[in-house]
Amino acid sequence: MTGTAHAKHFAPPEPAATGPRNLAGLGRAELEAEVRALGEPDFRARQLWHWIYHQGARDFEAMTTLSKGFRARLAANYTIDRPRAVSAQVSVDGTRKWLLRLADGQEVETVYIPEDDRGTLCVSSQVGCTLTCRFCHTGTQALVRNLSAAEIAGQIMTALDDLGDWPRTREGRRFTNLVMMGMGEPLYNYDNVAAAIRIVLDDEGLAISKRKITLSTSGVVPLIERCGEELGVGLAVSLHAVRDELRNELVPINRKYPIAELLAACRAYPGAHNARRITFEYVMLDGINDSVADARELARLLGDLPAKVNLIPFNAWPGAPYECSTPARDRGASPRSSTTPGYAAPGAGPARGQDIMAACGQLKERQPAPAQGRAGSRRRCLNAGGFDAGRTDLS
Ligand code: SAH
Ligand code: SF4
Repeated sequence: MTGTAHAKHFAPPEPAATGPRNLAGLGRAELEAEVRALGEPDFRARQLWHWIYHQGARDFEAMTTLSKGFRARLAANYTIDRPRAVSAQVSVDGTRKWLLRLADGQEVETVYIPEDDRGTLCVSSQVGCTLTCRFCHTGTQALVRNLSAAEIAGQIMTALDDLGDWPRTREGRRFTNLVMMGMGEPLYNYDNVAAAIRIVLDDEGLAISKRKITLSTSGVVPLIERCGEELGVGLAVSLHAVRDELRNELVPINRKYPIAELLAACRAYPGAHNARRITFEYVMLDGINDSVADARELARLLGDLPAKVNLIPFNAWPGAPYECSTPARDRGASPRSSTTPGYAAPGAGPARGQDIMAACGQLKERQPAPAQGRAGSRRRCLNAGGFDAGRTDLS
């Protein structure tokens, strides 16, 4: 299945035929086409690009390098809209989570994770998800549609508005890394995700290099190679189990593309080498996938791959059929304790970053309060405490 074929069934709503067209989220070629339609030369498109994606301008009046007449014609025909943030939650550690409302009323979430040397935005690719991984709350949502490229890029633009991260100068920027790890399966919306990533990569715009972008997939094998070849971004794979029988249950796409095929695609991933290892995400489910034998098998399976393992504490949601591993089992499953060294398991270390990645797996929901009596494990099981610190309703 290709991204395009899938998109037919889950396409975003078509923009209204009449009324001003939104320029935010258009690629270079599309922007040029609009400028030509107004009878203007191509260099005007470059100027617009600069104002939209470098300066972060939100109205045409601010575009002082454009003539007044051109600005007026732009304003009569176009808008520069982003998804509207209806709420923002700020954690004590600076992490921010926005609930964004799209033009058709659907909602997605975007997360910003500041760290010492970087600031990462975790962005959604779909409303809901057609895949039904058993531990993931997003997969239980009834409605699914693909996000448009403009809605994907727009999440970033809204975040940058709120972070005050315009213009996109090199020094002191807050947004430095992008992870496609929010709601949805990005490789089932490949064309739109790729178009948005090209905007993010553009040196005269948001200017994030491909080395700072990671796309996470549950394992859509036929599109993995294309992603590496066309976009060259980092790959994260949601593995979560080392045997097909269990992975069929946890990550049902495994029935279509089993572990051996998935790992073969990873081995062939363009650009995968030790300097740019593939991340294997592994959610820690108590008594399900966290035995010492699982850890050994994980080390064996990944032994010949340029891999790093990200152990994610399971982020429980009401009615979830699993619990997060206890710290003891968690340690037992760490490849560090196995006999095959050779790749890093950052999940065994300080857990803040991956805590938030896990949060990405169940966006759009208020987090349940941490359970009493298991604080040791729950502490790493996520952001429940983190996100109740300061919620701002923006609607
Ligand atoms: N669909 C893609 C990307 C979005 S999910 C994928 O599956 O890779 C991002 C990550 O969050 C995935 O590794 C996913 O398995 C994980 N995840 C989902 N729900 C989770 C939960 N409740 N707790 C911890 N991690 C979760
Ligand atoms: Fe979809 Fe990823 Fe959640 Fe699976 S883990 S249901 S692929 S968002």
